[in-house]
Amino acid sequence: MAKVYQETAENIQILAKALQKGELVAIPSETVYGLAANAFDEAACRKIFEIKGRPFNDPLIVHLDSLSTLDQVAEQNQTVERLAKAFWPGPLTLVLPKKKSIPSLVTAGLATVAVRIPEHPVLQKLLQACQRPLAAPSANPFGYISPTTSAHVQESLGNKINYILEGGPCRIGIESTIVDLRDPSSPAILRPGGISDRAISAILDLPLDKPSVASKEKSAPIAPGLLHKHYSPKTHFILRSTPFTETALKNLQPKEAALCFKKPDDPLTASLENVFWLSESGSDEEAARNLFSKLRQMDTGPWESIEAELISETGIGNALNDRLRRAAAKS
Ligand code: AMP
Ligand code: MG
Repeated sequence: MAKVYQETAENIQILAKALQKGELVAIPSETVYGLAANAFDEAACRKIFEIKGRPFNDPLIVHLDSLSTLDQVAEQNQTVERLAKAFWPGPLTLVLPKKKSIPSLVTAGLATVAVRIPEHPVLQKLLQACQRPLAAPSANPFGYISPTTSAHVQESLGNKINYILEGGPCRIGIESTIVDLRDPSSPAILRPGGISDRAISAILDLPLDKPSVASKEKSAPIAPGLLHKHYSPKTHFILRSTPFTETALKNLQPKEAALCFKKPDDPLTASLENVFWLSESGSDEEAARNLFSKLRQMDTGPWESIEAELISETGIGNALNDRLRRAAAKS
């Protein structure tokens, strides 16, 4: 089993040294837990792909401690500054022309690199202590539900890695929004995530290409790893075309479970053991925070099938729906 390291100055030094020596460390972030390696170390990054079973054509995101280190890995432009000022540190990833320092293994051979400055204070300490950019995808077996606690990482990768850094449950709970900034005059959202497309276009004062939806992604060559099927429970998982009604919830078969957006108003319905929800209050942010935990919890239950409802596309609702659609995709 992996050892879980609490955040102490001594432990941060131990884990920073492990990363410098080419070992992998599972890290907390505000989005999801990641499996990190020194981004300059090709052999270390190769282990990430092997341990996750991730195909080599699916590039990794590189995490930096601050804007002052961006020059080491990517070409800057003025739009980067505007977005960085508004959203970094935070759940925004930018795709920029890459510098030679980053091995092509990390970027799946692309001429670009995806970069992000995370906000999580424990991860920031580790980044500053190891003084290297960290390449890190989510710390889960490829295609399975992303981890949002150290226990999730331990459950699915604990027998393959040595180090997990504890950082508590993830504050955002879904992955970063990815923006293609190769051409700053026509930015495009490659993946919806923790920051809404509306917030980004408000800062840029530019229309953005539409967020990629699951049905289009197979043909999107710019973000090769964005697969139709992803974040998938093992239990048969389907989406409803309409929201749940109280009657639909009461009529569930005993082996069918329902995943609602909001807690049902009727206390009797809410007390049914096969009825689950993402938010008490009906907030998209609370729902995002709970999504992957709830899917994992339901996936270990006695259910033959799980049915989920889509939510309103406002705020980060479209990012949540993107994850639900991919969890339900069959291939
Ligand atoms: P994750 O698996 O959540 O860490 O996200 C990584 C995703 O970011 C990949 O699956 C790609 O779709 C996208 N990505 C990473 N690097 C690039 C890049 N250089 N160009 C376009 N998309 C990228
Ligand atoms: Mg992932």
